[in-house]
Amino acid sequence: ISFKNLHLINPIVRAVTEAGYSKPTEIQYSAIPHILAGKDIIGCAQTGTGKTAAFAMPILQLLKKHTPEHNEIRTLILTPTRELAIQIEENFGIYSKYLPLSQLSVYGGVSIGGQLAALRKRVDILVATPGRLLDLVGQRHIDLSKIEILVLDEADHMLDMGFINDVKKILKMIPQKRQTLFFSATMPVNIRKFAQIMLNNPVEVTV
Ligand code: AMP
Repeated sequence: ISFKNLHLINPIVRAVTEAGYSKPTEIQYSAIPHILAGKDIIGCAQTGTGKTAAFAMPILQLLKKHTPEHNEIRTLILTPTRELAIQIEENFGIYSKYLPLSQLSVYGGVSIGGQLAALRKRVDILVATPGRLLDLVGQRHIDLSKIEILVLDEADHMLDMGFINDVKKILKMIPQKRQTLFFSATMPVNIRKFAQIMLNNPVEVTV
């Protein structure tokens, strides 16, 4: 199976080919067709399986279908740590090289000023840790009312780190009518319950 077989568009195939990817990984060929079809996903995958590209490539393709003139954040990726937020932003940057879409990450532990300046430019995809996101929303620097796609990455770490209430607050600010992609390395009962409150008729993908 090639990236083209997955019906990924040329600008994305070209970018990942230049990044040295020759064929999709298992999570990529299992998840990408469902994501492109607009389905919610519950994905059980560890770091190292290529799960970031498994959601990033189809998200870019879905967003590219209609690109609003004005600046609105249309995809939110929630991650438990700053390191992961930075890494996901970097991956989006590689895959969106030939697309008119831009990404930004915001996270705690650094001053808010640089992030505020970056938020004034076009941001289609926002990668965020929950606490800093709530601060920025509270100060009205971020509007979550136009979100079309929500990704929860490393949901198990999110719960371990005590972010469940922050995530619940964030969910209340995002439209109900959206596509949600939920990833976790492990799927114990508490994670499944957490997934249930945010997913709508999901397809389960395990690698
Ligand atoms: P992740 O599981 O998202 O942390 O990705 C692990 C590593 O695999 C990252 O360094 C990616 O750049 C790389 N990667 C993702 N997809 C592919 C692919 N299809 N072929 C080769 N490398 C990939």
